Amino acid sequence: MSEITVIGLGAMGTALAEAFLNQGYSVTVWNRSPAKAEALAAKGAIVAVSVEEAVRSSPLIVTCLLVYDTVREALGPVAAALSGRTVVNLTNGTPEQAREMSDWAISHGADYIDGGIMAVPPMIGGPHALILYSGSSQAFDACSGQLGALGTSKYLGEDAGLAPLYDISLLTGMYGMFAGTLQALALTGAAGIPAGAFMPLLASWLQAMQGLLPKWAEQIDSGDHTSDVVSNLGMQADAYVNLIDASRSADVSTELVLPMQSLMKRGVAAGQANADLSSLVALLRLSKQGA
Ligand code: NDP
Repeated sequence: MSEITVIGLGAMGTALAEAFLNQGYSVTVWNRSPAKAEALAAKGAIVAVSVEEAVRSSPLIVTCLLVYDTVREALGPVAAALSGRTVVNLTNGTPEQAREMSDWAISHGADYIDGGIMAVPPMIGGPHALILYSGSSQAFDACSGQLGALGTSKYLGEDAGLAPLYDISLLTGMYGMFAGTLQALALTGAAGIPAGAFMPLLASWLQAMQGLLPKWAEQIDSGDHTSDVVSNLGMQADAYVNLIDASRSADVSTELVLPMQSLMKRGVAAGQANADLSSLVALLRLSKQGA
């Protein structure tokens, strides 16, 4: 018997198992391709020969596979063995997938916690690895000590879908920043400006713009989007045209920047020209508009 089982030894699962081992926990591991367990075995992990053996080895089962279907594929045939154990699923997925998985695990007598890993594998085990959790609070309280080995834990609530909701929303913000950065570098690169020369300016500009975000939160929560930074939507929509035109003139694709223009136009057409950009959030919530 061991304290923790880790199922899935890709880049992330390996880092998770290592972090548990580094904190002195006894760890059983299983991976579809057994060779990936060898390095962990050398560090003290017990290698299970089947998923069932892995599940039966510990009261706490951590899964980190590619997608949810993979988790169901791996655990489905051994569902009966889950009874009385806690499953912490750190596979990336949607809130709906997490809720379904939670219902399924609970129906087999297990406690279920879903997780979202806001880190890359080398960060696991350090304080900057943020792991979001949701699901059974009782189970989370019971295993929060062990989970603390992975990084900084944040428990969000009983609804198993909350961790993936926060995870995906954070990633959405990140990809928005990445998309803008790619466009900016393509535009400056087309003019022969090295990325290394432009990046310091871009990084500090993005940091300065982050200063606006707390005000956005207040505006979205209150519903009052009155612009007091003299940068209202109408002005920005007119200036945004230049951003598109400059890309076109430089023979740079506009595929990343056109969707934002279409939303801005919708905002202006809806009479929000004098409001702040934060007012556009409401236009994205289609069901609220009966769309
Ligand atoms: P990898 O591609 O490195 O590993 C994927 C894992 O899934 C392997 O253990 C693989 O087994 C297993 N797997 C895939 N298909 C099957 C299957 N049909 N049956 C059984 N096992 C299967 O991915 P990561 O470890 O990087 O990612 C794992 C999860 O963590 C993902 O959901 C990812 O989104 C999430 N994540 C990853 C981050 C990262 O930076 N790497 C960051 C945050 C979250 P095998 O070795 O046999 O192929």
